Amino acid sequence: MDYQKLIVEALKDQKEIFGDDLLEVFNLSVPTENNSTNENIIMNLSKPELEINPPNLFEDDFQKSKSLEELFNIIHTCKKCSLGETRTKFVFGTGNPNADIMLVGEAPGAEEDKQGEPFVGRAGKLLTDILKAIDLSRDEVYIANILKCRPPNNRDPLPSEVEKCRPHLMKQIELIKPKMILCLGRIAAIELLGKKLTLTKLREEVYELNGVKVMATYHPAALLRNPGLKRGCWEDVKKFRKLYDELTGKK
Ligand code: SF4
Repeated sequence: MDYQKLIVEALKDQKEIFGDDLLEVFNLSVPTENNSTNENIIMNLSKPELEINPPNLFEDDFQKSKSLEELFNIIHTCKKCSLGETRTKFVFGTGNPNADIMLVGEAPGAEEDKQGEPFVGRAGKLLTDILKAIDLSRDEVYIANILKCRPPNNRDPLPSEVEKCRPHLMKQIELIKPKMILCLGRIAAIELLGKKLTLTKLREEVYELNGVKVMATYHPAALLRNPGLKRGCWEDVKKFRKLYDELTGKK
């Protein structure tokens, strides 16, 4: 059995739910294959390397966009951070440009990077099923990520990358004008809302961002790793749907 892989996956789940704070109190010392300890794994998961990039003098050009198409044309060649050099495809977002509902994830993964679309592959299929369960289709909503390019090895986004890319998402939100946003995973929620809380806490509240209601639930990839979280996700999306129906007077 690959204990190292199991430990890393379990820690990823803990990090998804509780963030860095919980990981920092662990001090396990089970030796791994290469004779390092889990402490090293925790350090790697919690503290991505710092990255310093010069500011882009033309970064505000995209703010003048009047449509998603115009925005895409301006930013799809973006190299404001180093992920622009390592990406295979830029992952802008997909769905209804006039959607009432937006789903926001953290960053493209390997499959998204290959296909140039957010939430494809197994996690994407599960997301489609979750939407179906609350009577929504992918074509009705708009799906995007905080980062438009894949961080290598699916590491967490660096603060400098979020700082440079988040305005792209904020412009998408401004153009789409959704009534509600569902954040998929803790990182998407804390980076969108600017609140460093656990996912457990984030899931309890309905937040407001520029007049848009924002809620959070688990990332579908976390549900695939840990099916025990599905019940909580189901409760979250039912609550999300109920609030949406109340807001739009559908029920
Ligand atoms: S992640 Fe965002 S800021 Fe970085 S290169 Fe890609 S689009 Fe630009």
